[in-house]
Amino acid sequence: MTRAFVVGVTGGIGSGKTTVCNEFSRRYNVPVLDADAVAREVVEPGQPALDEVVEAFGPSVLDLQGGLNRAYLKRIVFADESKRKLLENLLHPRIRRRIDSQVHAIREAYCLLCIPLLAEGNDNELIDRVLVVDCAQTLQIARVRERDNLTEQEVIAIMRTQASRETRLQIADDVIVNEGDATLLAKRVDELHNAYVELAASRA
Ligand code: ADP
Repeated sequence: MTRAFVVGVTGGIGSGKTTVCNEFSRRYNVPVLDADAVAREVVEPGQPALDEVVEAFGPSVLDLQGGLNRAYLKRIVFADESKRKLLENLLHPRIRRRIDSQVHAIREAYCLLCIPLLAEGNDNELIDRVLVVDCAQTLQIARVRERDNLTEQEVIAIMRTQASRETRLQIADDVIVNEGDATLLAKRVDELHNAYVELAASRA
């Protein structure tokens, strides 16, 4: 049996990726995979990748409970391109393999893969089609301030580490402009679901 057709869902922080994925799942039971969740799973205590990260970066990357101190590791790799590459080489093949096996376990015709940093270079050869969730930056800021209780400056600092709207839109096959209410979003999800069912069926 051919594997499920994979729609990669991406967008900036607060654009509404989670909301959109939930809507596909709620309305049509579309399976949703989460690349960030997989990235966290592969470095859980007991996973071989965690030992390799400690070997490469030293025991100071562990917190007191023996888990990975992600914030600390992030600071290290942000400051040093070669370390970032080293970490990616350790983790990406494992993340890819795990997502691959999740996709192969899916029996539905298509699934969503929520992958926030797709436009930042985290490409995945499993992705058949890219859905970008887009909205005005002012809306992103307002939503994340409310959701995560952050200041405007803190949200802007996170957005600066992400691809620009333009860069992201360049890789889009489909776009959801998530600036309206729930009814408008549901209508767009209906349209795209129908399109994805057809695309999955007509795939060579
Ligand atoms: P992301 O996963 O892209 O960071 P979320 O889906 O978590 O974004 O959405 C960010 C916040 O904005 C959440 O609190 C969500 O409930 C809210 N939100 C998302 N889309 C809409 C919308 N169309 N109208 C109102 N609020 C929305």
